[in-house]
Parts: sequence; structure tokens; C-alpha cells
Amino acid sequence: MADYTKMWTDLGLNHENHNALLEYLGGAYQSIFMSQEKRPEGMSYFDFVISEAHGLRIKELCDEREAGRKVIGSFCVFVPEEMVLAAGCTSVGLCSGADFAQEEVEKVIPRNTCSLIKSFFGFSLGKVCPYMEVSDLIVGENTCDGKKKAFETFKDMVPNFYQMDLPQTKTPAGRQTLKLEFMRFLNQLEEMTGKKVTLEGLKEGIAITNAKRKALQRLATLRAADPAPISGLDALLINQVSFLDNPVRFTENVNKICDQIEVEIAANQGVKKAKAPRILLSGCPMAIPNWKLPTIIESTGAVIVGEESCIGERGLRNLTDDSANTIEGLIDAIVDRYFKIDCAVFTPNQERVEHIKEMKAKYNADGVIHYGLQFCQPYIMESFTVEKQLEKENIPVLRIETDYSQEDIGQLSTRVEAFVEILK
Ligand code: SF4
Ligand code: SF4
Repeated sequence: MADYTKMWTDLGLNHENHNALLEYLGGAYQSIFMSQEKRPEGMSYFDFVISEAHGLRIKELCDEREAGRKVIGSFCVFVPEEMVLAAGCTSVGLCSGADFAQEEVEKVIPRNTCSLIKSFFGFSLGKVCPYMEVSDLIVGENTCDGKKKAFETFKDMVPNFYQMDLPQTKTPAGRQTLKLEFMRFLNQLEEMTGKKVTLEGLKEGIAITNAKRKALQRLATLRAADPAPISGLDALLINQVSFLDNPVRFTENVNKICDQIEVEIAANQGVKKAKAPRILLSGCPMAIPNWKLPTIIESTGAVIVGEESCIGERGLRNLTDDSANTIEGLIDAIVDRYFKIDCAVFTPNQERVEHIKEMKAKYNADGVIHYGLQFCQPYIMESFTVEKQLEKENIPVLRIETDYSQEDIGQLSTRVEAFVEILK
């Protein structure tokens, strides 16, 4: 990586903390991803993006800002990228996948908060996340109680916080709330840029976002093959990169890797052994660099064939209808698309269980591992319903509750190994 010290200083990063984070990330990446026996050739692009995630990509974002573009950082797949692009802005995900500055964090929010929330507090307090620092607007949403209340504190820690309210029921009133919130968000973007969003702008935003989701859906579908043509770790990584990279370039590279994978499938080649136990991972989102559980699962010889998660199929399942020819019509289409997201903050949320069953069948999974972050009420509560309903259909399920620490690796490995043995 080139020397980006000046850029990091200008962004206000803490060098000592940031270097420690980069060192940890580099080591983890080498030992988890680069040690895999076989990988599709096209993974080299995603390796490159990760290696430059704090370098070249941040430089690109700084250049975009110099050219007058605004960067919008978000924590949730409910923030509509179509609108961000339509307003001439760039969307980035604020990853929240590792512990940092935990002692400092626990001075401002309770210890028994989920790791994801603690992570973005730690990244902010430790000044280690260039995406947070480069964002002109940080969008937080009222999803779970943890985030909603944590944002009351977080909003005073950053200069540019924007709160989005979200419904919790799939009722007409819930849809109306989402529509009003999306319109308020669009106004905020227009105020920031000083420009009105146009019909053409919205059409283009939808086209770029749909193309990205279509490419990721194509990749997901290819994972139904046996032998598995890509590891679950690499597929997760591609999904994680989708939140950081330039969307058009990213889409091209996902389609390229899909082209290669199709050739391998036609030749009956894969990266894992044929008939390896196949796992569907379901639950909380796994943000970069949260690779603990997938690493454990795949080190048993099993392969993850799908993620029922926001960094996975829940985030990319539906496309936005682009057929309307008015701004309001397109806004309605965007609202309809997002209103289908089956996050566990909704009640009731039977669609999610149905989606898990569909994915299990579509990707020929042998069993489901439900992943809940400790202290995540919505997903842990829902994991009991998921387990009960899957067991009724004789689908093996393992419920895991964990955090970002490495302390429970031994215990998790034992449980996962035993589960994989059952699947065998
Ligand atoms: S799990 Fe729910 S709150 Fe979290 S990113 Fe997904 S939609 Fe947003
Ligand atoms: S993991 Fe659960 S508790 Fe944590 S932010 Fe997401 S929904 Fe909220």
C-alpha cells in the first residue's frame, strides 16, 4: 500500500490505534482468506479492494468530495442507496465488525450491548475508521432498541448525524411511515447538495443498485452447485465489499467472477470436496472483519452455501421496479422494495422463516446455523421460532450466540464440529 499517512492525518485518524487495527486486519486476512486451498481466480480483485480499503478507496472518496460529491455513511440496509446515488452522492457502509477501545466504549454505553453497536462506538472513539471520518452524513436508523437508544449518545459524538425512523410492523401505517421517512431523507440529501433529484437521476440510481443486486443474486444462485464453486468465506467477503466499493466497478467484477465460476461448474470443478456438508447461515449481519464463525464452520470441512443475513440475501433479495415515469412513482417503488426486508425488528416476521426454508431448499443446504450476536434481542428472540419451525420440517438447526471476542473459539468449534458430524 502506498503511504497514506497525510490523508489519514487530514481525516483526523489516530495513527497508533489505526496502525494497530490495520496490522490486526492484515494478519487475520492472510490467515483466513489467503490460506484457503482453492479460490476462484476473480477473488484477486476483492483481495485488492480489501488491501486498499483504508488506502486507495478512501483516496477515491476524498477525491469525490473535492469534486463536490457528498459521502453518506450508513449502518443498515434500510438506507436506500438508490436515493443516495440519485442525489449525486456516494453510499458507504460503516462496517462495525470488530471490537475496538472497549474500555472507553463501556464508559458511555452498557457492557451488555451487542458487539455491533459497541464496535461503531469503538471505531469512533478510537478514531480508526476512515469511512466514518470521510462521511458527510452518518445515517442511523431506529431499528432495534439497542441502536435506537445508542444513537442518542452517538449523535453527540459525531458532527453530522442524521436519524431515520423506521416502522416495526408491515401494516399500511408502517408503509406510510417508511415512505415519509424516505421522502424526508431525500429532502435532506437535496439540502446537502443544493440540487433537486430528477426523474432521470432516480432511474439511474435504481439501475446501478439493481445491477449490483442482480450480480450478487447471480453469484448466490451459482452456490447451489456441488462441489461448491466458491467458499462461504469468499462469498461473504464479496458481500461485505459491496458496502465499500464503487458500485459500478464492483458489479463488473462480480459478473466477471460469475463468468469464471460458471465455466468451473460446467467442468464439474469446485473449491471444496463434492458432497461436503452444506450449511445455510442465518441471523445477524456479519460486517467486516467479523469472520469468526464462518472460519470455524469451513475449517470443519463443511461449506457455507448461503447467508440469510443483511450482508447476504436479506440485503439483496429484491430489485426495485423502475417502470414508473414520475418521481413519486419511483419513490413508491423504492419504498415497496425496502418494505419487504424481513429484519427481525419487525413483528410478526413469519416471512423470514419462510425465506430461510426457501434458501435451504434452493442452495441444497443440509442444515442451518442460526447466528445471533449476544444481547441482540430481535434475532435471539426470533431464533427460537426459527428453530421450532425448521425442526418441524426435520431441518437440523444449531443456534449460536456469540460476540466479536476470540475467547469462545474453542467452545464454538466443538459445537459446530458436532453439528457437522450429524449432517454427515
Ligand atoms: S439486521 Fe435489521 S437493523 Fe440490522 S442491518 Fe439488517 S435491516 Fe438493518
Ligand atoms: S445485532 Fe441486533 S442488537 Fe445489534 S444492532 Fe443489530 S439488531 Fe440491534
